[in-house]
Amino acid sequence: MFATRYRRIVTPLPVPESLPILARIEKFEPRSLSGQPPVVWDRAEGFQVYDRYGNMWLDWSSGVLVVNIGHGHEAVKEAILREVNKSLLFSYCFPTESRSLLAERLVQLAPRGFWKAFFLTTGSEAVENAIKLARTWGQKIGGAEKIAIVTFELGFHGRTLGAQLAGGYPEAKGWIGHLDPAFVQVPFPDGFRCRELDFKLFEESLAEQGVEPREVAAVIMESYQGGGASFAPAAYVQALRRWCDRHAVLLVFDEVQSGFGRTGKLFAFEHYGVEPDLICLGKGISGSLPLSAVLGRAEVMDLYGPGAMTSTHGGHSLSCAAALANLKVLAAERCVERAAAVGEVLHAGLREIARRYAPFVGALHGKGMVHGLHIVEPGTERPDGARAFEIVRRSFESGLLMFAPVGLGGATVKICPPLIMTEDAIQEGLAVLEAAFEGSCSSHRWNAEEARP
Ligand code: PMP
Repeated sequence: MFATRYRRIVTPLPVPESLPILARIEKFEPRSLSGQPPVVWDRAEGFQVYDRYGNMWLDWSSGVLVVNIGHGHEAVKEAILREVNKSLLFSYCFPTESRSLLAERLVQLAPRGFWKAFFLTTGSEAVENAIKLARTWGQKIGGAEKIAIVTFELGFHGRTLGAQLAGGYPEAKGWIGHLDPAFVQVPFPDGFRCRELDFKLFEESLAEQGVEPREVAAVIMESYQGGGASFAPAAYVQALRRWCDRHAVLLVFDEVQSGFGRTGKLFAFEHYGVEPDLICLGKGISGSLPLSAVLGRAEVMDLYGPGAMTSTHGGHSLSCAAALANLKVLAAERCVERAAAVGEVLHAGLREIARRYAPFVGALHGKGMVHGLHIVEPGTERPDGARAFEIVRRSFESGLLMFAPVGLGGATVKICPPLIMTEDAIQEGLAVLEAAFEGSCSSHRWNAEEARP
């Protein structure tokens, strides 16, 4: 039991009174929804999360990278309530003002040229839509064979069928049985799991799999890989852009996770100095209600006639109103710039933890307000999901909230605070994380000889 300025834990965890809620979820929902730290969210404000039993956590999850501007912002709440009070609780393709304004706003933020925005509800749907657009576009300009979608090993694009085919985890592909041969994967040059950083690896990998560039409709890339907070080298992505231009291939950035300031730039692809043809957006777009979007060059976005690309809840007026308010706050409160500046402090602190516990940390990846500590079996490169979870669990019990580890072997401790987190709150979180490392790693007798791979 303790309280600091940013954290307060006054009950045993999980809270005994919350056990019936947790048991109900376990009984009536699929097992796949379990595995997170057992906090029953009651409310959340700024960068803190509260249960109804008096506990308060410093939030290093941002929901799941949703609330970039912080939880429960008044401007977003007011925008939603204004729309609710109009009794406009309906969506579909009938025009609404909030949808029209949001499309205009997003196109203003997109790369120069004639772009359009199409709204959906989830990130997975945005990826599905990009796949559909790319395959139609490919066939239009290159014939029936130009339908291949190239994506990256260890990539994540969501849990619907096409999104899982685009994803780069073999296990997830196993669940969906027969594979579509037009989905092709290449290594992602993250500098850790793949140390070859030269673009020739991309071309060699396609050639090895018998894929010719003329068959490729699109390359879809997370701007950073969510599973590890891992970036590709800028030179690699620039070479990829040139390759796409040379072969009339669409370059699609999945910014569902990385967009809206997370990395200290509005869009993470800006770190690479290239412009995509399509962008998938979600999560932080509204900072609250479900909304996703595909932004793209108009000639691609206008491929279908009326009625052929729609979604019942896509561009719901409540979500669009929330997103407009969210984008206003993002600019007015200089959240992107703050993420870049405070992100430096976060990075320096994490680098120090990674150095101190070096045998257990294979890599530290990330920029701005997103980082991943890749936990490994001591002195090896084998992912250590159990120890990663132990670190998250200990942090949770000390009032620092992160979601369960992600990425290869579930071994990346992912750190993603709201962009508005202050420097002293970051420092407090770092101290908690360090103690969690100490508790999770110190008991292990690290024997360099024994651990040599
Ligand atoms: N793309 C990326 C890069 C993501 O991180 C996610 C979600 N974590 C998705 C797509 C899927 O989004 P959703 O869960 O909203 O379907």
